[in-house]
Amino acid sequence: MKLGAHPLQQLRPVRPETGQGPVVSQAASARHTHAKAIDSLSLQPAALDQVKDCRAAWQRSLLARVADTDLSPAVEELFAHHLSTDFYGVRTDGMRRLEIEGPGGKLDVQLAPNRNKVPLAEIKDGENKECALCRPPFQEERGLSWRDYNVWPNAFPYVPTESRHVVITAARHVGQRFTPQLLGDMIDYQRHAGESTPVTMHYNGVAGNSQFHLHWQATRETLPLQRLLDRGELPTELLHSGDGGRVDSYDHGFFTGLLVRGDKGYVSRWATILIDQIDRDPLTRGAYNLLLLHPRDGQARLAIIPRRADDLKPPVGDFGKVGLGAFSLGGTIVVPRDQLPETFAEDLTAAAARTVVRPHELSWLTRVTRQPSNPMLLARTAQLATATTDDP
Ligand SMILES: [Zn+2]
Repeated sequence: MKLGAHPLQQLRPVRPETGQGPVVSQAASARHTHAKAIDSLSLQPAALDQVKDCRAAWQRSLLARVADTDLSPAVEELFAHHLSTDFYGVRTDGMRRLEIEGPGGKLDVQLAPNRNKVPLAEIKDGENKECALCRPPFQEERGLSWRDYNVWPNAFPYVPTESRHVVITAARHVGQRFTPQLLGDMIDYQRHAGESTPVTMHYNGVAGNSQFHLHWQATRETLPLQRLLDRGELPTELLHSGDGGRVDSYDHGFFTGLLVRGDKGYVSRWATILIDQIDRDPLTRGAYNLLLLHPRDGQARLAIIPRRADDLKPPVGDFGKVGLGAFSLGGTIVVPRDQLPETFAEDLTAAAARTVVRPHELSWLTRVTRQPSNPMLLARTAQLATATTDDP
């Protein structure tokens, strides 16, 4: 299971990848396997009632159901529980953080040498073919049930466990996708789970990801992209501003993309408009990554990184072809080795430059961001258009 685009990992998948088959047959077969997965456990899939005591719930259920307001302490309990059972084993041993110079600012490198020592035998690969995100392959794994999502500890975390790396999966087996409702939920997740310590969220979509099943990820990292932005060192170009927020582009060395800041409604609305174009643009064909940087002054901050559909896995030196994801393009690169190859910074920079589509290449960007987005303005424009047409 290559949970979330571990960018520089040469892991054999520990479970068969679900692939990107036709959506209809995927969903049909998934319903079947999902049912089987639950039957094969004596545990109930989820408690129906929201609980305060997750550990008691995990005695009987895979998932403890939690309310919005309990999300932050529940994530803490999730980690306390898995740390107490030594869930991560050696997979987080020997992690080290380095900084390298990239064009446009410093990049973080997370060395995670034991991420490549996945205990294949424990997972009984081949015995069950069900989706790894419908039911986690580790028997001892427990999760949270929140709204229409399940929250699991990432069994192969990019970062030390203090960063609380979790995977937020759709409770139903549906493919990677964007909807404004989903983004709104993730913005809410970030707010509730980040009550005591801010949370960064990321989504790889079809770029830098091997799992079909819809999932986002969350950590407590502060990405280099955000550090630049917070220090006022990321040059941005304003594309739209209106009630509730603004849209900018940025194109600064390693870092490039679109930045939507504002309240939940503004960010969801503008993300929908921009992603709709990215879905149709022949350069991107639906390939993009999303990052929810830490909220600031009560506003959500969404980075959208358009990706080149024909170059989603550029070569990175002797690592071979690598499916770079949102985390890497936000400036934190996870490397499953105990030291870096000498030319790593150059190789990585070249790879990133190949796989991103820079704002100036998006032929629709100026036209789309000039349109009025305020529903009142849209209504008025429509009225004006009608009035003009009807004019004798
Ligand atoms: Zn699934």
